[in-house]
Amino acid sequence: MSFSRLSGRIAIVTASTDGIGFAIAQRFAREGAKVIISSRNDENVQVAKDKLLKEGLNVTGLVCHVGKAEDRAKLLQTASSLGGLDILVSNAAVNPEVVGILDCSSSAWDKIFDVNVKSSHLLTKEAIPFLKKSKAGRIIYISSIAGLQPLKTSGAYGVSKTALLGLMKTASLQLAPENITVNTISPGLILTRFSNVLIKTPSEKSDILDKIPMNRFGQPHEVGGCAAFLASDDASYITGENIVVAGGMASRL
Ligand code: NAP
Repeated sequence: MSFSRLSGRIAIVTASTDGIGFAIAQRFAREGAKVIISSRNDENVQVAKDKLLKEGLNVTGLVCHVGKAEDRAKLLQTASSLGGLDILVSNAAVNPEVVGILDCSSSAWDKIFDVNVKSSHLLTKEAIPFLKKSKAGRIIYISSIAGLQPLKTSGAYGVSKTALLGLMKTASLQLAPENITVNTISPGLILTRFSNVLIKTPSEKSDILDKIPMNRFGQPHEVGGCAAFLASDDASYITGENIVVAGGMASRL
């Protein structure tokens, strides 16, 4: 990586042992940031951390289930012990039921909103004292194309991703005077374990490809590049915005 736009910055990326979160953490570290990776499973944390350390990157890792207050506190304590926090990427999400919104169970609704929305809200509040001390505080939420242009089976997951856009818009207003920017990225279909369930059969694959003008699925590093831009000084005057990374998929409300 020829850029060093994030040199000296300290970043937290949640749910970063695989997929999009891992790619964001890797890109931030390649651009010079000290990155704290985390997820629910300690073995996953160790494997992801080792991969990044082998590349010579400056990373540390710990277990953090974003729904657990004590885990989020440990995440922020780790940042504090490294010297503070400049960048928070809230990336964790779950989607236990791929069904129409009116078929969504009460328990799935609660789980989806707890992990996808409430934990982002709480982690933001908890991170603010640290981000206020940064010269260039950055918050990035990972939303989804489904938050803007739902599919029939996006269900409560899509609604939670629309809620994240609202959280981003309103938090950006409150944090702008503190020089903390708040933005979202809305990926389209990016090849990860999470999206695998949507494209299991050739006909599911071709149905989704038909909706993508670039006629291919995205790669996690293509979201990583966008996140690094938003985290860097190149995006110093951008707040309250959403960037769609979806190969041209229809994406307006
Ligand atoms: P992924 O490849 O399945 O990776 C999920 C990561 O999240 C893993 O590291 C997993 O590790 C961790 N994780 C899951 N639940 C967690 C929790 N409660 N607390 C902390 N970590 C947790 O998923 P992905 O596709 O990269 O998705 C990442 C984000 O992008 C999500 O917000 C998703 O909604 C969004 N997105 C994805 C796509 C897509 O096409 N892939 C499209 C639009 C939006 P452990 O199992 O060890 O916890």
